Amino acid sequence: MNTGTVLIIGAGGVGSVAAHKCAQNPEVFKKIHLASRSLEKPNAIKADIKNRWGVDIETHPVDADKVPEVVSLIQEVKPDVVINVALPYQDLTIMDACLETGVHYIDTANYEPPDVAHFEYSWQWAYQDRFKEKGIMAVLGAGFDPGVSNMYCAYILKKFYDKIRFIDILDANAGNHGHAFATNFNPEINIREVTQIVRHWDKGKWVETPAILDQKSAHFTFDYPVAGPKESYLLYHEELESLVKNIPGLERIRFWMTFSENYLNHLRVMQNIGITRIDEVEFEGKKIVPIKFLKALLPNPASLATNYTGKTVIGCIITGVKDGKESTKYIYNVCDHAECFREVGSQAISYTAGVPPVVAAMMVMKGVWKGAGVYNMEQLDPEPFLEAVSKNGLPFEVVDYETLPEKI
Ligand code: NDP
Repeated sequence: MNTGTVLIIGAGGVGSVAAHKCAQNPEVFKKIHLASRSLEKPNAIKADIKNRWGVDIETHPVDADKVPEVVSLIQEVKPDVVINVALPYQDLTIMDACLETGVHYIDTANYEPPDVAHFEYSWQWAYQDRFKEKGIMAVLGAGFDPGVSNMYCAYILKKFYDKIRFIDILDANAGNHGHAFATNFNPEINIREVTQIVRHWDKGKWVETPAILDQKSAHFTFDYPVAGPKESYLLYHEELESLVKNIPGLERIRFWMTFSENYLNHLRVMQNIGITRIDEVEFEGKKIVPIKFLKALLPNPASLATNYTGKTVIGCIITGVKDGKESTKYIYNVCDHAECFREVGSQAISYTAGVPPVVAAMMVMKGVWKGAGVYNMEQLDPEPFLEAVSKNGLPFEVVDYETLPEKI
């Protein structure tokens, strides 16, 4: 029996947007609980939500690294769904707690172990049988990318094609936050992601290429709608893994993200001096992890929102075949940093990542998505999801396009 109760864990940039969006949909979310390691951030969000939407939410402290703490919080608030927008490190403990209590689970980033900068779905896919047996859903990667990007692929396949041959996912942040260097979401997770060896899928196998900081990294100038030409770098991103598995016959999939020369130069220097290291080092008799220290120095991503201008443009160029005829579609969203700030006090990266998990929660709570087990987004019906995502601030366009060249 659904009670319209949601528990959001994580009160950073993304958690704040998720809580605001739940408050904007009181017919679905009758009771909103927001939890994080301490009460400071949840309480600030609570006050802002009351001020903007007149909605009362409840806040809780929880250490989501500890399964029993999450279990007792779930038992106390009795949610229909838990939205995990803490860090990828907490995915498995929160999934364990959902299993123990029989509550649906949604997240926006796949698990990665704190001591290895590596993410993959295997750890979470291993929960498949247990979620099935318990009769509950785990919806993985329900942010924008992964998340909406997966659904764009599923939607284009459903609407236009018998089969998809090529996908290029393109993520541009054509915004300006006015800082010399800052990351748009959690700095530790962001830097771990962008300093990885790059992989893409081509002709039935994974191909490795140099990381974006390497002079030999693959990049090209793409002319984004609204934002214009931007240098876009080949990057490994987690939705590639599930899309290769779930879109049969996919020949090639690549992920591209824009980076400014300024961002790359800062990151090169930081990497060269060792401050992006994720292992412990001894400092004045204490053990510290340099990247965690760096995180403490960098601007909090949520704080960038105040003066952020410009737009994000994220979408997929998809080539498919229908009745033997090949064509290409480009499906994308444009989101404006300043408009997000006016609406919910956040920048567009947090906004694009925070709206979709709330819509995923709506789909589960309303019974639009039904099932038991662990799902990646593209395994669920994309149409009602994208319709609701559009209504909740992230509309999309579909235009005819051309396949991007094989060699870039
Ligand atoms: P932040 O660092 O701003 O926020 C993380 C929040 O989680 C903070 O409130 C933090 O608390 C809390 N937290 C951390 N550890 C714990 C813990 N052990 N127990 C309870 N709470 C904890 O991150 P973002 O909001 O920028 O990102 C949140 C998630 O969204 C990340 O997993 C990120 O990868 C994902 N993301 C997904 C995107 C997508 O499109 N799919 C895009 C952008 C982000 P404290 O402040 O005390 O540290």
